[in-house]
Amino acid sequence: MLRTVTAPLKNHEEVYDYCVSQYAKNEIKQNFNLLRPAVIGQGYLFVALAQKGGVLALEPIDVSKNDQDKLEDMYELRLVNKNGISRETYDAIRSVSSVCPYCGFGEVSELDHFLAKSVFPELSVCPLNLIPVCHRCNHLKGATNPTPEGNFFFNPYFDSVPHEERWLFARIEIVNGGPKLTYWIDTSAFGDTLAHRLEFHFEKLELCRRYQERAAEILVEMQQHVEMYLSKLGEEGIRLHFVDEAIRWGKKTVNGLEATAYLAASLHDDFCNGNFKN
Ligand SMILES: [Zn+2]
Repeated sequence: MLRTVTAPLKNHEEVYDYCVSQYAKNEIKQNFNLLRPAVIGQGYLFVALAQKGGVLALEPIDVSKNDQDKLEDMYELRLVNKNGISRETYDAIRSVSSVCPYCGFGEVSELDHFLAKSVFPELSVCPLNLIPVCHRCNHLKGATNPTPEGNFFFNPYFDSVPHEERWLFARIEIVNGGPKLTYWIDTSAFGDTLAHRLEFHFEKLELCRRYQERAAEILVEMQQHVEMYLSKLGEEGIRLHFVDEAIRWGKKTVNGLEATAYLAASLHDDFCNGNFKN
């Protein structure tokens, strides 16, 4: 399930100044200081637009190719670099969440530039443009930037995903001699913009397939439960257990892969009855 996370406490000015201070040459520092007003101004504009869901309107600042390259390199050279105060800043931003907010289950291992630094190099060390993510999500998202068609990811600092309505679904099918769990999303309850964005996020990050892989363990546990308790509880007792589990997990979010899996099991007569094979 996609998550919202609390934004890092570090501010853009502080991080930018830390990074600049790590350069040895005065000439380079002076150049970065000349760029500072435009860079910091862009950071404020980005946040103001993101808070309204309007990052599509943001355009890169107009600087020379050489300055673009230097701003882009600042991230790797001065923030990710394993030594110094800047690395503490990197770690502090990464630690705002231990679970990847893009997929909702991956372990956070790195930072993603919500707006790619290749297009917006001036935001390469802007904390609110840096999202703690798992490696798989970061790899799949790549340098994808928002497009006018509304193709852009959920930003866990600024956007909220609907939690009241159910939009993640799963079904169990007995295929090739065993149960298979399949996930899908149904966004028909939402307006075009939200529906499109949710579909884009899921498709690009291959979340339905990854949920299915992730749920393999739950499926085995559910099967074991049926095998152990069917003779004692009967089909209805098994079904009630799955409903209880769906409710328990659903208290966290109804659109979680666990709640959805248990609900799917409760709705499948053959599964509740121990008929796992076709
Ligand atoms: Zn992830």
